[in-house]
Amino acid sequence: SPSGYANIERQRQKLPVFRYRTAILYLVETHATTIVVGETGSGKTTQIPQYLKEAGWADGGRVIACTQPRRLAVQAVAARVAEEMGVKLGEEVGYTIRFEDVTTQGVTMIKFLTDGVLLREMMDDPLLTKYSIIMVDEAHERSIATDILLGLLKKIQRRRPELRLIISSATIQAKSMSDFFQPRKSRRRPDGEDLGPNMEPAVLSVEGRGFNVQIHYVEEPVSDYLRAAVSTVLLIHDQEPMGDILVFLTGQDDIDAAVQLITEEAQNRGKNSSGLMLVPLYSGLPRAEQELVFTPTPRGKRKVVISTNIAETSITLEGVVYVVDSGFSKQRFYNPITDIENLVVAPISKASARQRTGRAGRVRPGKCYRSAPFMLILSPNKVAFPLYVSMVTTRLYTEEYFAKEMSDEGIPEIQRSNLVSCVIQLKALGIDNILGFDWPASPSSEAMVRALEVLYSLGVLDDDAKLTSPTGFQIAEFPLEPMIAKMILSSGELGCSEEIITIAAVLSIQTIWVSGRGSQKELDEAKLNFAAAEGDHVSFLNVYKGFLQSGKSPQWCHRNFVNYQAMKKVIEIRGQLRRTAQRLGVVLISCERDTVVVRKAITSGFFANACRLDASSHDGKYKTIRGSQEVYIHPSSVLFRVNPKWVLYHSLVSTDKQYMRNVISIDPS
Ligand code: ADP
Ligand code: MG
Repeated sequence: SPSGYANIERQRQKLPVFRYRTAILYLVETHATTIVVGETGSGKTTQIPQYLKEAGWADGGRVIACTQPRRLAVQAVAARVAEEMGVKLGEEVGYTIRFEDVTTQGVTMIKFLTDGVLLREMMDDPLLTKYSIIMVDEAHERSIATDILLGLLKKIQRRRPELRLIISSATIQAKSMSDFFQPRKSRRRPDGEDLGPNMEPAVLSVEGRGFNVQIHYVEEPVSDYLRAAVSTVLLIHDQEPMGDILVFLTGQDDIDAAVQLITEEAQNRGKNSSGLMLVPLYSGLPRAEQELVFTPTPRGKRKVVISTNIAETSITLEGVVYVVDSGFSKQRFYNPITDIENLVVAPISKASARQRTGRAGRVRPGKCYRSAPFMLILSPNKVAFPLYVSMVTTRLYTEEYFAKEMSDEGIPEIQRSNLVSCVIQLKALGIDNILGFDWPASPSSEAMVRALEVLYSLGVLDDDAKLTSPTGFQIAEFPLEPMIAKMILSSGELGCSEEIITIAAVLSIQTIWVSGRGSQKELDEAKLNFAAAEGDHVSFLNVYKGFLQSGKSPQWCHRNFVNYQAMKKVIEIRGQLRRTAQRLGVVLISCERDTVVVRKAITSGFFANACRLDASSHDGKYKTIRGSQEVYIHPSSVLFRVNPKWVLYHSLVSTDKQYMRNVISIDPS
């Protein structure tokens, strides 16, 4: 309505960034790169793209791009900006994430996308010619994709000086970003001659913030961050005025556990703690369930969103007044010596802590409880990650800890990850000298060498470390990890591509099982109905088959603890992967019941993740083939306690031990 629109306009003008509108537009006009630093909630993400559009940067069919590190943020922010502009999402304002494009060619002027998707677009359009401006938002996150993107954008600018960049964040170290974008030789501009934009980056600091957020730290040690978070939620509910709570934990496991603990506690306490509406949030959750987070809280209720760090940046949850920060997140750590990549619960950085705090105070004042302890206990001989160990501490998340011990920014992901996907992407973009690439932070040469080895053995690279034709190029085309792409390519020849594509689709979403309903025992029993002796991948095929046979029935899913939304997503992703496979000449064919070929195809991609049962141990210990590391089958696997002699895993998670998730037996049958 017109009055609603006027209201939104008034709100927009109240944001701190509004006073900088002219300055931002001037800097962007005159400088190739502008670095914008401003508090969370100052209006960077939602406003700057609109200012650019209003100033004409989307005229003549050009597009303004704004990248986000996470898919949830892309969708949420695009929806908000479309609402502010009074347009339908997917028209003037759109978004693209992997497997989902909500834009209209020739119509979309502002496009939100993940940095990974923008990298993929470079394969077809290396100079990103359709964009007039690219805003790399939340650049402090330093995902691998962001770092590759920054390096490539710098390169593109040398060829296309008219391309403008904006690098923005609340907590970015402007100096190091500015150094990175510094041209090698500064070009002097003789008077009167137009040499295009100034290549020296401009830095603009937006003063002012949204609403005040009071920060509370713990004073006494507590030994369990999960319980500490849970009791903080209950205390807030007992003692504080109405307002939703956003809790940051690390992953689905502890989120589900928190939901259960809060529910039990609330029941024990009786009516005082009723009225809580618990909403889990993690990336594996289907879209429809993630939506609950954004829907208005019913009157008289208090919503408690319990989230991983996917809610850490960019998004605004209108009802949130209180933030509870556990001080931990799940982080990827890779050790090139053992060649093991792992998800580990580790302390967050100050930058993350500030982002988490910044989820409150966006539409009203708020409070943030940094209430969790740092009590990670690792026995000295189990320590696998030198990087990680240096961050482990038994101190509390006290104010002193925050000030003195917490690192300012996390370690860039590129320095703690397996580089297989990164290397193939750069190769596909024609960057051959990867170590010589202009990185914002250089990866280790050991990790590079490991990645080159794997890619060589997958047949992706030749003796000169160039992409092989056609295999290397085909694998790079799939929007998937190279090992999964390889498995799909081989499946055509082995005659099981229909099955392998199903498996690839299931592996690309986090779980197909319902969580948080019924007991663990019920879920385990439901899973058992689909369990295959070969392992988890073949069990997925059984679930998929059952789902199709039920006529894709939601009731069937409900009965079997299968997540209906997840299965719909599997079908959608499967369709897209089939089209890509077909385009690349993979024969689409089913092997019916022959699981030997299915396992052969999986092996062709994942041989590097082979493990052998340690015959001398009786506790199900395996040794990795490449690094001789101790690993165990995860309890969620159908092969848990079955312990075949040889297995391949899809990924590892680390808690008390290193666990293999999604495991297939490769015992000769
Ligand atoms: P920044 O990127 O600087 O953190 P944003 O542009 O995301 O800031 O948001 C600025 C402000 O706009 C928020 O603090 C909030 O007041 C308002 N806002 C943004 N998104 C929403 C939303 N979905 N609902 C209500 N208010 C919103
Ligand atoms: Mg933002």
